[in-house]
Amino acid sequence: MNLNNIRKIITKGSILEMEPMAKHTSFKVGGPARYFITPHSVKELSGLVSYLKNNELKYYVIGNGSNLLVSDRGYDGVIIDLSSHDGTEFTILGMDDESEVIRFEAGAGSLMGNIGRLMARFGAKGFEPLSGIPGCIGGACTMNAGAYGGEMKDIVTGATVLDPFGKVMHLDRKELDFSYRHSAVQDKGYIVAKVEFELERGDEEEIKALMADYAARRREKQPLEYPSAGSTFKRPEGNFAGKLIEEAGLSGYSLNGAAISEKHCGFVINKGGATAFDIYKLIENVRDKVYKNSGIMLEPEVRMLGEF
Ligand SMILES: Cc1cc2nc3c(=O)[nH]c(=O)nc-3n(C[C@H](O)[C@H](O)[C@H](O)COP(=O)(O)OP(=O)(O)OC[C@H]3O[C@@H](n4cnc5c(N)ncnc54)[C@H](O)[C@@H]3O)c2cc1C
Repeated sequence: MNLNNIRKIITKGSILEMEPMAKHTSFKVGGPARYFITPHSVKELSGLVSYLKNNELKYYVIGNGSNLLVSDRGYDGVIIDLSSHDGTEFTILGMDDESEVIRFEAGAGSLMGNIGRLMARFGAKGFEPLSGIPGCIGGACTMNAGAYGGEMKDIVTGATVLDPFGKVMHLDRKELDFSYRHSAVQDKGYIVAKVEFELERGDEEEIKALMADYAARRREKQPLEYPSAGSTFKRPEGNFAGKLIEEAGLSGYSLNGAAISEKHCGFVINKGGATAFDIYKLIENVRDKVYKNSGIMLEPEVRMLGEF
């Protein structure tokens, strides 16, 4: 890759080489990204994607890395980082709270927690169940993230996305085609740049109390003291991954530093010193053992990047 050409496109953003992905994922594992580029604006992002496509160079977009397992060998391509870096166009928020409902647009890199706190201040109702998800808005839209009965699809009305050629487009809710942990963004290889929301008006104190309650439930039930990517597996229809794992006798099951949390069997955690391969192998072993015990093949929710 010709870095001089990239520097003409990324003039305000940053370009790093051999950046350890362990610094950018919630599992705290993963080898180096050959290039790690943080665009400053939609224009820079569009120019970059178009350049990479025209030159047949591979790339992968990340938000907060909270649903991502990167191989120990790293990624021999370009990581496009849209996570929360103050001042980039991807953390800017546009707000219209004059109308009966509250409409706002958040850049893909805004953290869900920050948006949640802001919504409480504006008395905007509907974001509460999602406020404890430790991802960025773009990642959450891509994954149709959800918690406690709420999903992104309930409150998202549209998004500004880029197609794989770098063309900027708008998608409405229908075109986003949300379903359980799925959106059209995944199928079409789009990149989410901004997300639009519509929320009802509510009472600030009630919203804050609900958010605090959800946060307390997370602290009580989830092993937040260890690095993880949250629930490692998708919920199988009519069942729960954690329950199936427990029934297979795998609570606390470990492989070097990787383990099934005893607090919440749906979480694979890094108890300390795990490699990405340990985590990967443990996930595979768990799928195998659960299948033998229940006939159900668990599907990982966590995204894998690189060679394992
Ligand atoms: C402790 C913990 C608790 C969690 N709880 C929940 C929960 O309750 N509910 C839930 O749904 N998830 C949960 N998660 C998982 C994770 O936080 C969500 O999936 C989140 O939405 C991922 O966002 P991210 O920005 O970290 O995405 P990343 O991990 O960076 O990326 C995830 C996927 O989205 C893609 N992506 C990211 N940003 C973009 C973009 N702008 N455009 C296109 N593609 C993009 C990436 O390529 C990747 O495939 C939890 C994780 C942890 C660590």
